[in-house]
Amino acid sequence: MRITLWGTRGAITTPGPSKLEHGANTACVTITDGDRMLILDAGIGIIPLSERLMATKRPKDHLHLYLLLSHLHWDHVIGLPFFIPVFLPSTTLEIYGRSTQEVEAATERLFTSTYSPIKGTENLGATLIYRAVEPNTNDIGGFRVTHSTLRHPADSLAYRIESGDQAVVYATDHEAGDAASDNALIDLARGADILIHDAQWTVSEQGQYEGFGHSSWKQAVDNGLAAGVKTLVLFHHHPHHDDQLLNDIASQATAHAGDALEVLVARDNMVLEP
Ligand SMILES: [Zn+2]
Ligand SMILES: [Zn+2]
Repeated sequence: MRITLWGTRGAITTPGPSKLEHGANTACVTITDGDRMLILDAGIGIIPLSERLMATKRPKDHLHLYLLLSHLHWDHVIGLPFFIPVFLPSTTLEIYGRSTQEVEAATERLFTSTYSPIKGTENLGATLIYRAVEPNTNDIGGFRVTHSTLRHPADSLAYRIESGDQAVVYATDHEAGDAASDNALIDLARGADILIHDAQWTVSEQGQYEGFGHSSWKQAVDNGLAAGVKTLVLFHHHPHHDDQLLNDIASQATAHAGDALEVLVARDNMVLEP
């Protein structure tokens, strides 16, 4: 499997000279294996993905794409109206979330004339199909997908994606500190090759922002250790955390994890191959 991080920020994009190393796009990740691909979330990071897809697409290619949404907060959907494949009649896009109706209503809203010149999804070229993830194992685009519910305002879904004997878990927008939801996430992530985990806060910020639905880097490391994963990727960076602070977090998190766990700080365009 190959994991590409197209956007790694939370909340809003705040590009600038102090963010060049880690980038400023909001959440979007792809998981590929051969010619199969899943897209996780549609933040601003889906725009560079869109450019990559269009650069490699031949005119007659039919794109059949699968988008799994963690939840519907702006930073996870705001890139969809700018995702070029949705304008092409040769595209089929299956969008997964917690419920078909919820995903459909949210997508329709993104393309209404209030927010977009498109005036409704019926004017898009692509065929959109809305789906809910099933409680047990789903076969989505040739990957095995299971999920659990995270602790976040309006909830967020964590996804475990498996292909062959490899497993990647995407768990963003989660406030650690509640045993039941942490244990559900730890069970989902157990033994995974890679765990991508919300790490929006420093340790001191986490104490100030209880109830906001996010974790500190230290809580992410503790969950990664409890789940026995090989590599933890700290994700959903606070928009004001600059490269210097994120590099400091990398050092502290690596020291806290010890030898049992590799810790990486996500940055836009990072590619991982477990
Ligand atoms: Zn978010
Ligand atoms: Zn959120």
